[in-house]
Amino acid sequence: SLLSDRLAQVMARAERENRLVATLVLDLDRFKNINDSLGHTVGDQLLQGVAARLLKLVRQSDTVSRLGGDEFVVVLTGLEHTAQALPVARKILDALAAPFEIGEHEMLITPSIGIALYPDNAGDPETLLKHAEAAMYHAKHQGRNTFQFFAPEFNLWATERLHIENGLRHALARDELQLHFQPQIDLSTRHIVGCEALLRWQPAEEPMVMPDRFIPIAEETGLIVPIGQWVLEQACGQLARWDAEGIPPIHMAVNVAVPQLRQPGFVDKVRHTLEQTGIAPSRLEIEVTESVLLDKDERISTTLEGLVALGVKLSLDDFGTGYASLSYLRNFRFNVLKIDRSFVMELHRNEADIKLIRAILSIARDLSLQTVAEGVESEVQDVILQELGCHIGQGYHFSRPLPADRMGEFMRQQRGA
Ligand code: C2E
Ligand code: MG
Ligand code: MG
Repeated sequence: SLLSDRLAQVMARAERENRLVATLVLDLDRFKNINDSLGHTVGDQLLQGVAARLLKLVRQSDTVSRLGGDEFVVVLTGLEHTAQALPVARKILDALAAPFEIGEHEMLITPSIGIALYPDNAGDPETLLKHAEAAMYHAKHQGRNTFQFFAPEFNLWATERLHIENGLRHALARDELQLHFQPQIDLSTRHIVGCEALLRWQPAEEPMVMPDRFIPIAEETGLIVPIGQWVLEQACGQLARWDAEGIPPIHMAVNVAVPQLRQPGFVDKVRHTLEQTGIAPSRLEIEVTESVLLDKDERISTTLEGLVALGVKLSLDDFGTGYASLSYLRNFRFNVLKIDRSFVMELHRNEADIKLIRAILSIARDLSLQTVAEGVESEVQDVILQELGCHIGQGYHFSRPLPADRMGEFMRQQRGA
Protein backbone atom coordinates (compact mmCIF):
# COMPACT_ATOMS: atom_id res chain seq x y z
CA SER A 1 0.00 0.00 0.00
CA LEU A 2 2.97 2.29 0.52
CA LEU A 3 3.86 1.60 -3.08
CA SER A 4 0.48 2.66 -4.42
CA ASP A 5 0.55 5.80 -2.22
CA ARG A 6 3.95 6.62 -3.56
CA LEU A 7 2.82 5.92 -7.12
CA ALA A 8 -0.20 8.18 -6.75
CA GLN A 9 2.06 10.98 -5.44
CA VAL A 10 4.65 10.75 -8.19
CA MET A 11 1.95 10.49 -10.82
CA ALA A 12 0.35 13.70 -9.57
CA ARG A 13 3.70 15.45 -9.60
CA ALA A 14 4.54 14.13 -13.07
CA GLU A 15 1.23 15.54 -14.26
CA ARG A 16 2.10 19.01 -12.90
CA GLU A 17 5.64 18.94 -14.23
CA ASN A 18 4.69 17.35 -17.52
CA ARG A 19 7.01 14.43 -16.95
CA LEU A 20 6.69 10.63 -17.15
CA VAL A 21 6.72 7.92 -14.51
CA ALA A 22 8.12 4.52 -15.41
CA THR A 23 7.17 1.44 -13.42
CA LEU A 24 9.44 -1.56 -13.77
CA VAL A 25 8.13 -4.86 -12.47
CA LEU A 26 10.92 -7.34 -12.02
CA ASP A 27 10.48 -11.04 -11.43
CA LEU A 28 13.37 -13.42 -10.79
CA ASP A 29 13.57 -16.24 -13.31
CA ARG A 30 13.19 -19.71 -11.82
CA PHE A 31 13.54 -18.41 -8.29
CA LYS A 32 11.29 -21.21 -7.12
CA ASN A 33 14.00 -23.70 -8.09
CA ILE A 34 16.41 -22.06 -5.68
CA ASN A 35 13.88 -22.01 -2.88
CA ASP A 36 12.97 -25.62 -3.52
CA SER A 37 16.47 -26.94 -3.86
CA LEU A 38 18.47 -24.85 -1.39
CA GLY A 39 15.82 -23.90 1.12
CA HIS A 40 14.02 -20.73 2.14
CA THR A 41 16.87 -19.27 4.16
CA VAL A 42 19.09 -19.19 1.11
CA GLY A 43 16.15 -17.90 -0.93
CA ASP A 44 15.58 -15.07 1.56
CA GLN A 45 19.23 -14.09 1.52
CA LEU A 46 19.21 -14.04 -2.25
CA LEU A 47 16.18 -11.71 -2.23
CA GLN A 48 18.01 -9.41 0.18
CA GLY A 49 21.03 -9.42 -2.11
CA VAL A 50 18.87 -8.52 -5.10
CA ALA A 51 17.19 -5.72 -3.15
CA ALA A 52 20.56 -4.27 -2.11
CA ARG A 53 21.79 -4.19 -5.71
CA LEU A 54 18.56 -2.57 -6.93
CA LEU A 55 18.80 0.16 -4.27
CA LYS A 56 22.30 1.04 -5.42
CA LEU A 57 21.08 1.62 -8.96
CA VAL A 58 18.32 4.14 -8.47
CA ARG A 59 18.27 7.79 -7.52
CA GLN A 60 17.12 9.11 -4.16
CA SER A 61 13.78 10.16 -5.62
CA ASP A 62 13.06 6.72 -7.09
CA THR A 63 11.34 3.90 -5.25
CA VAL A 64 12.24 0.24 -4.90
CA SER A 65 9.62 -2.04 -3.42
CA ARG A 66 8.98 -5.73 -3.07
CA LEU A 67 5.57 -6.81 -4.28
CA GLY A 68 5.86 -10.20 -2.65
CA GLY A 69 7.54 -13.47 -3.52
CA ASP A 70 10.30 -12.78 -5.97
CA GLU A 71 8.67 -9.71 -7.52
CA PHE A 72 10.16 -6.25 -7.16
CA VAL A 73 8.98 -2.88 -8.41
CA VAL A 74 11.19 0.04 -9.33
CA VAL A 75 9.50 3.40 -9.87
CA LEU A 76 11.43 5.99 -11.88
CA THR A 77 10.29 9.59 -11.72
CA GLY A 78 10.90 12.77 -13.64
CA LEU A 79 11.51 11.14 -17.02
CA GLU A 80 11.23 13.36 -20.07
CA HIS A 81 10.79 10.57 -22.56
CA THR A 82 10.16 6.84 -22.65
CA ALA A 83 13.65 5.92 -23.79
CA GLN A 84 15.08 7.11 -20.47
CA ALA A 85 13.75 3.97 -18.82
CA LEU A 86 15.88 1.86 -21.10
CA PRO A 87 19.34 2.40 -19.57
CA VAL A 88 17.91 1.69 -16.13
CA ALA A 89 16.49 -1.64 -17.29
CA ARG A 90 19.87 -2.47 -18.82
CA LYS A 91 21.66 -1.46 -15.63
CA ILE A 92 19.41 -3.77 -13.62
CA LEU A 93 20.19 -6.71 -15.91
CA ASP A 94 23.91 -5.93 -15.62
CA ALA A 95 23.82 -5.46 -11.87
CA LEU A 96 22.12 -8.82 -11.31
CA ALA A 97 24.33 -10.65 -13.81
CA ALA A 98 27.23 -11.02 -11.37
CA PRO A 99 26.91 -14.16 -9.22
CA PHE A 100 25.55 -13.90 -5.68
CA GLU A 101 27.57 -15.50 -2.95
CA ILE A 102 25.40 -16.86 -0.19
CA GLY A 103 27.08 -19.04 2.38
CA GLU A 104 28.96 -21.64 0.46
CA HIS A 105 26.73 -21.22 -2.60
CA GLU A 106 27.48 -19.19 -5.64
CA MET A 107 24.31 -18.41 -7.51
CA LEU A 108 23.31 -16.91 -10.79
CA ILE A 109 19.90 -15.36 -11.10
CA THR A 110 18.36 -13.43 -13.97
CA PRO A 111 15.30 -11.17 -13.92
CA SER A 112 12.51 -10.59 -16.40
CA ILE A 113 11.47 -6.95 -16.42
CA GLY A 114 8.23 -5.37 -17.62
CA ILE A 115 7.98 -1.62 -18.06
CA ALA A 116 4.85 0.54 -18.17
CA LEU A 117 4.67 4.33 -18.31
CA TYR A 118 2.40 6.99 -16.93
CA PRO A 119 0.59 8.64 -18.63
CA ASP A 120 1.15 6.73 -21.88
CA ASN A 121 0.02 3.28 -20.70
CA ALA A 122 -2.20 3.94 -17.69
CA GLY A 123 -3.80 6.70 -15.66
CA ASP A 124 -3.88 5.14 -12.20
CA PRO A 125 -1.38 3.21 -10.05
CA GLU A 126 -3.24 -0.06 -10.18
CA THR A 127 -3.47 -0.22 -13.95
CA LEU A 128 0.12 0.95 -14.29
CA LEU A 129 1.31 -1.96 -12.13
CA LYS A 130 -0.95 -4.40 -13.91
CA HIS A 131 0.39 -3.36 -17.29
CA ALA A 132 4.00 -3.53 -16.15
CA GLU A 133 3.28 -7.03 -14.91
CA ALA A 134 1.76 -8.05 -18.24
CA ALA A 135 4.91 -6.76 -19.96
CA MET A 136 6.99 -8.75 -17.47
CA TYR A 137 5.20 -11.97 -18.38
CA HIS A 138 5.89 -11.18 -21.97
CA ALA A 139 9.58 -10.72 -21.22
CA LYS A 140 9.57 -14.14 -19.53
CA HIS A 141 7.92 -15.66 -22.52
CA GLN A 142 10.61 -14.20 -24.75
CA GLY A 143 13.28 -16.19 -23.02
CA ARG A 144 13.87 -14.42 -19.68
CA ASN A 145 16.81 -12.23 -18.65
CA THR A 146 15.31 -9.44 -20.70
CA PHE A 147 12.96 -6.48 -20.47
CA GLN A 148 9.88 -5.52 -22.36
CA PHE A 149 7.84 -2.34 -22.66
CA PHE A 150 4.10 -2.64 -22.32
CA ALA A 151 2.01 -2.89 -25.48
CA PRO A 152 -1.80 -2.95 -25.41
CA GLU A 153 -1.97 -6.46 -26.87
CA PHE A 154 -0.12 -7.85 -23.81
CA ASN A 155 -3.23 -7.22 -21.79
CA LEU A 156 -5.09 -9.82 -23.72
CA TRP A 157 -2.24 -12.22 -23.31
CA ALA A 158 -1.96 -11.66 -19.55
CA THR A 159 -5.71 -11.93 -19.13
CA GLU A 160 -5.72 -15.20 -21.01
CA ARG A 161 -2.87 -16.51 -18.90
CA LEU A 162 -4.69 -15.64 -15.72
CA HIS A 163 -7.84 -17.20 -17.09
CA ILE A 164 -5.98 -20.45 -17.80
CA GLU A 165 -4.29 -20.41 -14.42
CA ASN A 166 -7.57 -19.93 -12.56
CA GLY A 167 -9.42 -22.51 -14.61
CA LEU A 168 -6.65 -25.03 -14.24
CA ARG A 169 -6.89 -24.83 -10.45
CA HIS A 170 -10.34 -26.42 -10.69
CA ALA A 171 -9.80 -28.61 -13.73
CA LEU A 172 -9.11 -31.77 -11.72
CA ALA A 173 -11.95 -31.37 -9.26
CA ARG A 174 -14.37 -30.55 -12.08
CA ASP A 175 -13.27 -33.58 -14.04
CA GLU A 176 -12.32 -31.50 -17.07
CA LEU A 177 -9.14 -33.34 -17.96
CA GLN A 178 -8.94 -36.20 -20.45
CA LEU A 179 -6.25 -38.35 -21.92
CA HIS A 180 -5.90 -39.05 -25.58
CA PHE A 181 -3.65 -41.83 -26.82
CA GLN A 182 -1.48 -41.82 -29.91
CA PRO A 183 -0.39 -45.19 -31.33
CA GLN A 184 3.26 -46.03 -31.81
CA ILE A 185 3.96 -48.42 -34.68
CA ASP A 186 6.88 -50.80 -35.08
CA LEU A 187 8.15 -49.75 -38.49
CA SER A 188 9.31 -53.22 -39.52
CA THR A 189 6.53 -55.47 -38.15
CA ARG A 190 3.84 -52.74 -38.59
CA HIS A 191 2.32 -53.69 -35.25
CA ILE A 192 1.10 -51.24 -32.63
CA VAL A 193 3.64 -51.63 -29.87
CA GLY A 194 2.66 -48.77 -27.63
CA CYS A 195 0.98 -45.45 -27.26
CA GLU A 196 1.68 -42.05 -25.77
CA ALA A 197 -0.78 -40.53 -23.32
CA LEU A 198 -1.45 -36.90 -24.23
CA LEU A 199 -3.36 -34.59 -21.96
CA ARG A 200 -6.39 -32.58 -23.04
CA TRP A 201 -8.35 -30.03 -21.09
CA GLN A 202 -12.01 -29.45 -21.82
CA PRO A 203 -13.30 -26.57 -19.69
CA ALA A 204 -17.09 -26.39 -19.50
CA GLU A 205 -18.55 -24.43 -22.39
CA GLU A 206 -15.18 -23.49 -23.81
CA PRO A 207 -13.09 -24.91 -26.61
CA MET A 208 -10.67 -27.70 -25.78
CA VAL A 209 -7.28 -26.45 -24.60
CA MET A 210 -4.17 -28.15 -25.95
CA PRO A 211 -1.25 -28.97 -23.64
CA ASP A 212 1.21 -26.54 -25.19
CA ARG A 213 -0.98 -23.74 -23.86
CA PHE A 214 -1.55 -24.98 -20.33
CA ILE A 215 1.33 -27.30 -19.40
CA PRO A 216 3.89 -24.46 -19.08
CA ILE A 217 1.48 -22.64 -16.74
CA ALA A 218 0.81 -25.84 -14.81
CA GLU A 219 4.57 -26.24 -14.40
CA GLU A 220 5.11 -22.69 -13.19
CA THR A 221 2.30 -22.86 -10.67
CA GLY A 222 3.14 -26.34 -9.43
CA LEU A 223 -0.30 -27.60 -10.51
CA ILE A 224 1.51 -30.10 -12.73
CA VAL A 225 2.24 -32.22 -9.65
CA PRO A 226 -1.37 -33.29 -8.92
CA ILE A 227 -2.29 -33.17 -12.61
CA GLY A 228 0.70 -35.34 -13.52
CA GLN A 229 -0.25 -37.86 -10.86
CA TRP A 230 -3.74 -38.01 -12.30
CA VAL A 231 -2.28 -38.61 -15.78
CA LEU A 232 -0.14 -41.44 -14.49
CA GLU A 233 -3.06 -43.14 -12.71
CA GLN A 234 -5.40 -42.74 -15.68
CA ALA A 235 -2.83 -43.96 -18.19
CA CYS A 236 -1.98 -47.08 -16.17
CA GLY A 237 -5.66 -47.70 -15.39
CA GLN A 238 -6.53 -47.52 -19.08
CA LEU A 239 -3.73 -49.92 -19.96
CA ALA A 240 -5.11 -52.39 -17.40
CA ARG A 241 -8.62 -52.07 -18.92
CA TRP A 242 -7.28 -52.79 -22.41
CA ASP A 243 -5.45 -55.81 -21.02
CA ALA A 244 -8.69 -57.01 -19.47
CA GLU A 245 -10.44 -56.61 -22.83
CA GLY A 246 -7.91 -59.01 -24.31
CA ILE A 247 -6.05 -56.47 -26.42
CA PRO A 248 -2.44 -57.61 -26.94
CA PRO A 249 -0.26 -55.85 -24.40
CA ILE A 250 1.36 -52.60 -25.48
CA HIS A 251 3.50 -50.16 -23.55
CA MET A 252 2.35 -46.77 -22.31
CA ALA A 253 4.44 -43.62 -22.64
CA VAL A 254 3.66 -40.85 -20.16
CA ASN A 255 5.13 -37.35 -20.23
CA VAL A 256 6.56 -36.23 -16.92
CA ALA A 257 7.59 -32.65 -16.09
CA VAL A 258 10.52 -31.41 -14.02
CA PRO A 259 8.52 -30.40 -10.91
CA GLN A 260 7.21 -33.96 -10.68
CA LEU A 261 10.69 -35.43 -10.77
CA ARG A 262 11.78 -33.05 -8.05
CA GLN A 263 9.31 -34.48 -5.54
CA PRO A 264 11.16 -36.79 -3.16
CA GLY A 265 8.29 -39.31 -3.17
CA PHE A 266 7.81 -39.54 -6.93
CA VAL A 267 9.33 -43.01 -7.38
CA ASP A 268 7.09 -44.37 -4.61
CA LYS A 269 4.05 -42.82 -6.24
CA VAL A 270 4.92 -44.51 -9.53
CA ARG A 271 5.50 -47.85 -7.78
CA HIS A 272 2.19 -47.51 -5.95
CA THR A 273 0.30 -46.62 -9.13
CA LEU A 274 1.79 -49.62 -10.94
CA GLU A 275 0.87 -51.92 -8.06
CA GLN A 276 -2.67 -50.56 -7.84
CA THR A 277 -3.28 -51.07 -11.55
CA GLY A 278 -1.29 -54.30 -11.86
CA ILE A 279 0.91 -52.98 -14.66
CA ALA A 280 4.45 -54.36 -14.98
CA PRO A 281 7.00 -51.53 -14.56
CA SER A 282 8.69 -52.38 -17.86
CA ARG A 283 5.51 -51.44 -19.73
CA LEU A 284 5.63 -47.87 -18.49
CA GLU A 285 7.81 -45.43 -20.38
CA ILE A 286 8.46 -42.12 -18.70
CA GLU A 287 9.17 -39.36 -21.21
CA VAL A 288 11.33 -36.47 -20.11
CA THR A 289 12.76 -33.65 -22.19
CA GLU A 290 16.37 -32.58 -22.45
CA SER A 291 15.77 -29.65 -20.11
CA VAL A 292 15.54 -32.21 -17.31
CA LEU A 293 19.14 -33.16 -17.92
CA LEU A 294 20.34 -29.57 -17.73
CA ASP A 295 18.88 -29.17 -14.27
CA LYS A 296 21.61 -29.49 -11.68
CA ASP A 297 19.14 -30.44 -8.93
CA GLU A 298 20.33 -33.72 -7.49
CA ARG A 299 16.82 -34.81 -6.60
CA ILE A 300 16.14 -35.20 -10.31
CA SER A 301 19.02 -37.61 -10.92
CA THR A 302 18.03 -39.49 -7.76
CA THR A 303 14.48 -39.83 -9.09
CA LEU A 304 15.67 -40.99 -12.51
CA GLU A 305 17.92 -43.59 -10.87
CA GLY A 306 15.01 -44.71 -8.69
CA LEU A 307 12.80 -45.15 -11.75
CA VAL A 308 15.46 -47.22 -13.49
CA ALA A 309 15.81 -49.37 -10.36
CA LEU A 310 12.04 -49.84 -10.33
CA GLY A 311 12.25 -51.19 -13.87
CA VAL A 312 10.42 -48.35 -15.59
CA LYS A 313 11.71 -47.32 -19.03
CA LEU A 314 13.11 -43.83 -19.56
CA SER A 315 12.55 -42.03 -22.81
CA LEU A 316 14.23 -38.83 -23.98
CA ASP A 317 11.55 -36.71 -25.68
CA ASP A 318 12.05 -34.08 -28.40
CA PHE A 319 15.64 -35.18 -28.86
CA GLY A 320 17.81 -32.68 -30.67
CA THR A 321 15.86 -29.54 -29.81
CA GLY A 322 17.23 -28.75 -26.35
CA TYR A 323 20.66 -27.75 -25.22
CA ALA A 324 21.72 -30.95 -23.55
CA SER A 325 25.19 -32.17 -24.35
CA LEU A 326 25.50 -35.70 -25.64
CA SER A 327 27.47 -36.70 -22.56
CA TYR A 328 24.18 -36.76 -20.65
CA LEU A 329 23.22 -39.79 -22.67
CA ARG A 330 26.12 -41.54 -21.02
CA ASN A 331 25.27 -40.39 -17.49
CA PHE A 332 21.63 -41.46 -17.50
CA ARG A 333 20.33 -44.81 -18.50
CA PHE A 334 17.77 -43.99 -21.13
CA ASN A 335 16.02 -46.76 -23.03
CA VAL A 336 14.34 -44.76 -25.75
CA LEU A 337 15.25 -41.75 -27.82
CA LYS A 338 12.44 -39.80 -29.48
CA ILE A 339 13.59 -37.92 -32.56
CA ASP A 340 11.87 -34.57 -32.61
CA ARG A 341 9.21 -33.80 -35.16
CA SER A 342 11.27 -30.91 -36.56
CA PHE A 343 13.78 -33.39 -38.04
CA VAL A 344 11.10 -35.63 -39.47
CA MET A 345 8.99 -32.87 -41.02
CA GLU A 346 11.26 -32.07 -43.98
CA LEU A 347 12.79 -35.50 -44.29
CA HIS A 348 11.43 -36.20 -47.77
CA ARG A 349 12.89 -33.06 -49.35
CA ASN A 350 15.89 -32.25 -47.23
CA GLU A 351 19.05 -34.30 -47.53
CA ALA A 352 20.56 -32.62 -44.47
CA ASP A 353 17.71 -33.88 -42.26
CA ILE A 354 18.25 -37.41 -43.53
CA LYS A 355 21.91 -37.13 -42.57
CA LEU A 356 21.02 -35.81 -39.13
CA ILE A 357 18.56 -38.59 -38.50
CA ARG A 358 21.07 -41.15 -39.72
CA ALA A 359 23.61 -39.73 -37.26
CA ILE A 360 21.09 -39.78 -34.39
CA LEU A 361 20.15 -43.37 -35.20
CA SER A 362 23.80 -44.35 -35.22
CA ILE A 363 24.38 -42.82 -31.77
CA ALA A 364 21.25 -44.57 -30.53
CA ARG A 365 22.41 -47.90 -31.88
CA ASP A 366 25.81 -47.58 -30.21
CA LEU A 367 24.15 -46.76 -26.91
CA SER A 368 21.57 -49.53 -27.36
CA LEU A 369 18.67 -47.10 -27.35
CA GLN A 370 15.39 -47.76 -29.03
CA THR A 371 14.35 -45.01 -31.47
CA VAL A 372 10.94 -43.43 -31.99
CA ALA A 373 10.36 -40.90 -34.77
CA GLU A 374 7.78 -38.27 -33.85
CA GLY A 375 5.47 -36.46 -36.24
CA VAL A 376 5.47 -38.96 -39.10
CA GLU A 377 2.88 -37.47 -41.42
CA SER A 378 3.37 -39.22 -44.75
CA GLU A 379 4.06 -42.50 -46.46
CA VAL A 380 7.37 -41.13 -47.82
CA GLN A 381 8.62 -40.26 -44.35
CA ASP A 382 7.50 -43.66 -43.12
CA VAL A 383 9.47 -45.43 -45.87
CA ILE A 384 12.62 -43.36 -45.42
CA LEU A 385 12.59 -43.91 -41.66
CA GLN A 386 12.18 -47.65 -42.17
CA GLU A 387 15.12 -47.68 -44.56
CA LEU A 388 17.24 -45.71 -42.12
CA GLY A 389 16.50 -48.33 -39.47
CA CYS A 390 14.36 -46.31 -37.06
CA HIS A 391 12.44 -48.72 -34.84
CA ILE A 392 9.16 -47.00 -34.10
CA GLY A 393 7.03 -44.31 -35.71
CA GLN A 394 4.40 -42.02 -34.23
CA GLY A 395 2.42 -39.43 -36.12
CA TYR A 396 -0.69 -38.45 -38.02
CA HIS A 397 0.29 -40.84 -40.85
CA PHE A 398 -0.56 -43.72 -38.50
CA SER A 399 -3.12 -41.99 -36.34
CA ARG A 400 -3.86 -38.76 -34.52
CA PRO A 401 -4.11 -38.96 -30.75
CA LEU A 402 -7.44 -40.71 -29.99
CA PRO A 403 -9.83 -40.86 -27.04
CA ALA A 404 -9.54 -44.14 -25.10
CA ASP A 405 -12.49 -45.92 -26.76
CA ARG A 406 -11.29 -45.09 -30.27
CA MET A 407 -7.76 -46.15 -29.42
CA GLY A 408 -9.23 -49.47 -28.23
CA GLU A 409 -11.05 -49.83 -31.55
CA PHE A 410 -7.88 -48.99 -33.46
CA MET A 411 -6.04 -51.79 -31.69
CA ARG A 412 -8.86 -54.31 -32.15
CA GLN A 413 -8.98 -53.53 -35.87
CA GLN A 414 -5.29 -54.21 -36.17
CA ARG A 415 -5.65 -57.55 -34.45
CA GLY A 416 -8.51 -58.45 -36.77
CA ALA A 417 -6.50 -57.40 -39.82
P1 C2E B 1 5.23 -34.38 -27.06
O1 C2E B 1 5.41 -35.24 -25.84
O2 C2E B 1 6.41 -34.23 -27.96
O3 C2E B 1 3.98 -35.00 -27.81
C1 C2E B 1 3.85 -35.10 -29.18
C2 C2E B 1 2.99 -33.98 -29.73
O4 C2E B 1 3.06 -34.02 -31.15
C3 C2E B 1 1.52 -34.12 -29.37
O5 C2E B 1 0.99 -32.81 -29.27
C4 C2E B 1 0.96 -34.79 -30.63
O6 C2E B 1 -0.41 -34.59 -30.82
C5 C2E B 1 1.76 -34.10 -31.69
N1 C2E B 1 1.82 -34.91 -32.92
C6 C2E B 1 1.82 -36.25 -33.01
N2 C2E B 1 1.92 -36.64 -34.28
C7 C2E B 1 2.00 -35.53 -35.02
C8 C2E B 1 2.13 -35.28 -36.42
O7 C2E B 1 2.20 -36.19 -37.27
N3 C2E B 1 2.20 -33.99 -36.83
C9 C2E B 1 2.14 -32.97 -35.95
N4 C2E B 1 2.20 -31.71 -36.43
N5 C2E B 1 2.02 -33.14 -34.62
C10 C2E B 1 1.95 -34.42 -34.16
P2 C2E B 1 0.10 -32.43 -28.02
O8 C2E B 1 -0.80 -33.54 -27.66
O9 C2E B 1 -0.48 -31.09 -28.35
O10 C2E B 1 1.15 -32.28 -26.86
C11 C2E B 1 2.11 -31.27 -26.88
C12 C2E B 1 3.10 -31.41 -25.77
O11 C2E B 1 2.49 -31.24 -24.49
C13 C2E B 1 3.72 -32.81 -25.67
O12 C2E B 1 4.74 -32.93 -26.61
C14 C2E B 1 4.20 -32.84 -24.25
O13 C2E B 1 5.45 -32.19 -24.14
C15 C2E B 1 3.17 -31.99 -23.53
N6 C2E B 1 2.23 -32.90 -22.82
C16 C2E B 1 1.16 -33.55 -23.29
N7 C2E B 1 0.57 -34.29 -22.33
C17 C2E B 1 1.30 -34.12 -21.20
C18 C2E B 1 1.24 -34.63 -19.86
O14 C2E B 1 0.37 -35.43 -19.49
N8 C2E B 1 2.18 -34.21 -18.98
C19 C2E B 1 3.18 -33.34 -19.35
N9 C2E B 1 4.08 -32.98 -18.44
N10 C2E B 1 3.28 -32.86 -20.60
C20 C2E B 1 2.38 -33.24 -21.52
MG1 MG C 1 6.10 -36.86 -25.33
MG1 MG D 1 7.98 -35.06 -28.36
